[in-house]
Amino acid sequence: MPKIVVKFGGSNLKCKEDVTRVVQVVKNYGQPLVIVVSAFYGVTNFLIDALEKARYDELVADSCTKYLYDLKHESISRLIRDENLQCTTLQEVNVTLGELKKYLHGIALTGDASLALEDHVQAFGEKLSAIVLNGILKDEGLTSKVVFPEQFGLITDGEFGNASVNFSRSVPNVREAFAEDITYVVPGFYGISEEGKTTLLGRGGSDYSAASLARCIGSPSLDIWKDVDGFLSADPKLVNKPKQISHLSYTEAAELAYFGAKILHPRTVEPLIDPHIPVRIFNIHGNLSVEKPLTVVSNEKSVTHDVVKSVTYSDNFGILKLKGPGVGLKPGILAKVTTALHHAGINISSVLTSQISINILLAKKDLQNAYAVVSAIELSGVGRLQIADDIAVVAAVGHGITDKYGISARIFTSLAGDGINVIMSCSGASPIVSYFLVKTEDRTRSVEAIHKEFFEKV
Ligand code: ASP
Ligand code: MG
Repeated sequence: MPKIVVKFGGSNLKCKEDVTRVVQVVKNYGQPLVIVVSAFYGVTNFLIDALEKARYDELVADSCTKYLYDLKHESISRLIRDENLQCTTLQEVNVTLGELKKYLHGIALTGDASLALEDHVQAFGEKLSAIVLNGILKDEGLTSKVVFPEQFGLITDGEFGNASVNFSRSVPNVREAFAEDITYVVPGFYGISEEGKTTLLGRGGSDYSAASLARCIGSPSLDIWKDVDGFLSADPKLVNKPKQISHLSYTEAAELAYFGAKILHPRTVEPLIDPHIPVRIFNIHGNLSVEKPLTVVSNEKSVTHDVVKSVTYSDNFGILKLKGPGVGLKPGILAKVTTALHHAGINISSVLTSQISINILLAKKDLQNAYAVVSAIELSGVGRLQIADDIAVVAAVGHGITDKYGISARIFTSLAGDGINVIMSCSGASPIVSYFLVKTEDRTRSVEAIHKEFFEKV
């Protein structure tokens, strides 16, 4: 039987109590595992910041590695009891930080960092987590070993910052690497290109790393331990008593993640669909039994009585508007715009057009750049370019949404009932999503209104 791939996030390793729970969980499996970890909370952002500062401040290499050393030293002395293990773990941390320091020094010397170097530096957060967790597991008497993706060959397509795993190349490497009857601890978030360069799998990409490894070894499930109760009918910060969702299909989970649910990276299910590997989500603060997942994501599709399974939102989108009489009928505008955005590395999330306006939904962080890129191209018929960034996207997700009549009516009536103005809407782009745009200030009330309509009626 292949090993189970189990992923712990940075937030699972924050305090001693959490780490004790992680250890308990690992023991509860009662068998060797492949454990994937992400960086400790905040460390990736810290490294991104250090990368920026290192270009013009040569002291950053020292101050950054000292900060990380102190952080790890503190965790190791708090979480590992055996003094020898404390020493060897700290030594491994030191060697790893020594390497990081060299790269940051290099950036300071040249005042520049290539994309390859940026990815390489950001991956250090995960490497440090893996080293520390391995020390903790050994301290508990478990037989475990850290392995880095560059050591066993998790091969990607080589795209820096947002790579995809190359499965035909990775499967034999990964199968061979995890063959021993011991637990392996693997840093998530990155793989390596054919040329051996570190390539990140996108922000929050450790979930996708874990899913990729699960596919490579044919794991019976991908188990993800979070510090929340699995997928819910809405963000618990916005609504009272959201319902827990025990089952979701792969596509529902992917759409929810795409439209803002933070529980899973949107690409997590991608590698798992073909081999039908289910994702089981647990809460490290809840029941630690490995037989009681809170949400199971699989290829089972179900239509519930009220159809909508969850309502989610994102504040991370904005719209680039191309206005002009007849833009909707002029051929070639979208081709030019999308090609230019593609060359600028900007991803388009959605396009909604009408006769007088083309609306391109983009990540908020890309809006200004997109505006500059599109302004620079010759576009006949486009009179005005505009940006709207004070919007939120709200999405209702569930199988049956576009097949059953009356669902959109219920969504929009509930919004109207609360006096909420919908700026734009789209249904049918995916058969399981209905989404719309509102002013940011109306986002919370929109989620509340829909949640009330579909989940709080008795
Ligand atoms: N540490 C990485 C990030 O913050 C990857 C992850 O957390 O999954 O994006
Ligand atoms: Mg994460």
